[in-house]
Amino acid sequence: MSTDPKNMSCEEFHAQLSDLVGSGADVENHPHIKDCDICRQLYDELQTIADAARQMFADQQPEDSLWERIESAIKKED
Ligand SMILES: [Zn+2]
Repeated sequence: MSTDPKNMSCEEFHAQLSDLVGSGADVENHPHIKDCDICRQLYDELQTIADAARQMFADQQPEDSLWERIESAIKKED
């Protein structure tokens, strides 16, 4: 993607968010999240959900399907 991270839309950021989190990227310092309160809030909520989910699935490694489910839950809220 050639989009400048600082100028990307929330939609583009949302599309990348699960990949960024799933890959262990430093999302808190992402240029979009620093400029966008909505996405920072979304990321905080995601982390809360993810922490709870990790505890529920502590003995499993369902990361891929887990993030897909979280992502589709976010899209339903929009
Ligand atoms: Zn945003």
